[in-house]
Amino acid sequence: ASLRLKGIASVRSVTQDGKEMELSANISSLKELDIALGSGTYGVGLFRTEFLYMDRHRLPKEEEQFEVYRSVAEKLGGKPLIIRTLDIGGDKHLDYFELPEEENPFLGYRAIRICLDKTDLFKTQLRAILRASAFGNVKIMYPLISSVEEVQSANALLEEAKRELASEGIAHRSDIEVGIMIELPAAVMIADMLAAEVDFFSIGTNDLIQFTLAVDRMNDKISHLYEPFHPAVLRMLKTTVDAAKRGGIHVGVCGELAGDLRALPIWLALDVDELSMSAHALLPIKERLICMKQQNSRRLFEELLSCRTSDAVKALLHDFGKLIE
Ligand code: PEP
Ligand code: MG
Repeated sequence: ASLRLKGIASVRSVTQDGKEMELSANISSLKELDIALGSGTYGVGLFRTEFLYMDRHRLPKEEEQFEVYRSVAEKLGGKPLIIRTLDIGGDKHLDYFELPEEENPFLGYRAIRICLDKTDLFKTQLRAILRASAFGNVKIMYPLISSVEEVQSANALLEEAKRELASEGIAHRSDIEVGIMIELPAAVMIADMLAAEVDFFSIGTNDLIQFTLAVDRMNDKISHLYEPFHPAVLRMLKTTVDAAKRGGIHVGVCGELAGDLRALPIWLALDVDELSMSAHALLPIKERLICMKQQNSRRLFEELLSCRTSDAVKALLHDFGKLIE
């Protein structure tokens, strides 16, 4: 980052009218963690654990995972660390793990669906995360949740893992916080019910946009239809955050849109608690945020909600951005 931006690494991320926003990093390696810490990150809002499984020829053992999770937790020293459980399938493959040939891998055997099927694999990871929780401010997050049952099944396995560790006399936080990614339209529609089951939500805009618009996020042919500012997406976001607020739980955003300057007024208007983004976006986002007023964003958002086209939404956001710059 430029020298000018480096200077705000330690500045509080608060708007002109006092709205504090937790600006956290998405990481998938220890190297990214260093960049994030250098940018004064609030914590890690999304630790993608896939790399632990992808860089090798067999499943990582509990001990190997534990070592990595613990070193990240310790490096963060008390700052929150949200570890997402395995999210393979779809676009992410493992050479040594036989995934079925599927017509629609994004709609197929992946993420929490694999974990609830291969419970040994899942419990190994849960045990490793639980053990690391004794060394920092660790939270667990499940990806691709579509139902209350999935959360309950995952939590039942988590409780099993805790019981095992307790009987083995191994240190862990038995009250570890558990959250879910909201990245499927089904999860949005039952967000009020899901909020009663968990400690926090994190909105995965990458998949949420893909599934809301039925636009494959990897397909170049239709990339022009992948529209973050579609009115349907705005409504999805509002429904989710409203449900989290009513349920009294923490709500963050961890898709690409969290680090997009254009979207910042949306997050302020909705009053989300946390934005988690790739490390290089942290300082530009903070630089903008500390010049803004939540109240103005709220007024703008009322207008955004009445827009009937993505172009209209983007035009309003563009004009609003020009006023701040
Ligand atoms: C998302 O879907 O928005 C997300 C953050 O997860 P991933 O990009 O790893 O699917
Ligand atoms: Mg996702």
